[in-house]
Amino acid sequence: APIIQIENMTKTYTLGGEVVHALRGVSLQIEKGDFLAIIGPSGSGKSTFMNMIGCLDRPDSGSYILDGKEIEKMKDNELATIRNEKIGFVFQNFHLLAKLTALENVELPLLYRGVKVKERKKIAYECLEKVGLKDRAHHLPNQLSGGQQQRVAIARALVGSPPILLADEPTGALDSKTSKEIIQIMKQLNEQGHTIILITHDWEVANEAKRIVRIQDGQLFEERGDFVGTY
Ligand code: ADP
Ligand code: ADP
Repeated sequence: APIIQIENMTKTYTLGGEVVHALRGVSLQIEKGDFLAIIGPSGSGKSTFMNMIGCLDRPDSGSYILDGKEIEKMKDNELATIRNEKIGFVFQNFHLLAKLTALENVELPLLYRGVKVKERKKIAYECLEKVGLKDRAHHLPNQLSGGQQQRVAIARALVGSPPILLADEPTGALDSKTSKEIIQIMKQLNEQGHTIILITHDWEVANEAKRIVRIQDGQLFEERGDFVGTY
């Protein structure tokens, strides 16, 4: 079965009496081991859809089966548990804590989960190694380049061994050479079995994925991926 099955999902926002249709009946199946890019211009519904895929918010209607689990039937605490188990998040602006070293940032999700210090450090080092940053473990974020900071953030997303990596504009704050390095790491993680979902407005980034869907006005369209440029 697909790892993600979304059927006819809708989401509207009401803002000052005006209704915004952010998702207009979106359906999407993602197979295990896929590397999917979701591309669209600003305001097209990318963040809204990412929040749904990541179980950070709930749709108004539609169904969502995540790795065999029916999301719409879950209580909020169950949703938080499944999110932690299934999905590692990567964001545009890294979201690292400035006063913690790379290693401590990577350890943090494990600390919250009550993992003991020795085990925590072991896993955190392993994850830093996966992104080629073990030798920067004791640096603070401001002692690292943007690309290195994003690699720390990817390592942090990996500590729970989530089957899915959900990256929201992970290259949006990086130059094009560094972007390519980050995409390269994501490709390696994909080869190691992680399902990757990458949200972007940059065709150069999207074209690196195995599959591309375009989002426009809250609707999804399958793409071949021979476009160029950015939105
Ligand atoms: P993108 O991430 O592609 O820029 P969004 O999902 O953020 O798109 O937004 C889709 C539409 O929903 C836009 O018209 C946006 O203005 C609107 N929207 C998003 N979040 C809210 C919100 N919290 N309240 C009202 N409107 C929102
Ligand atoms: P960026 O601007 O860096 O792409 P955002 O701060 O817009 O990322 O985050 C996108 C969405 O994810 C928002 O709905 C936000 O509330 C949520 N979010 C941000 N950081 C985290 C986090 N560490 N864990 C879970 N959700 C988060």
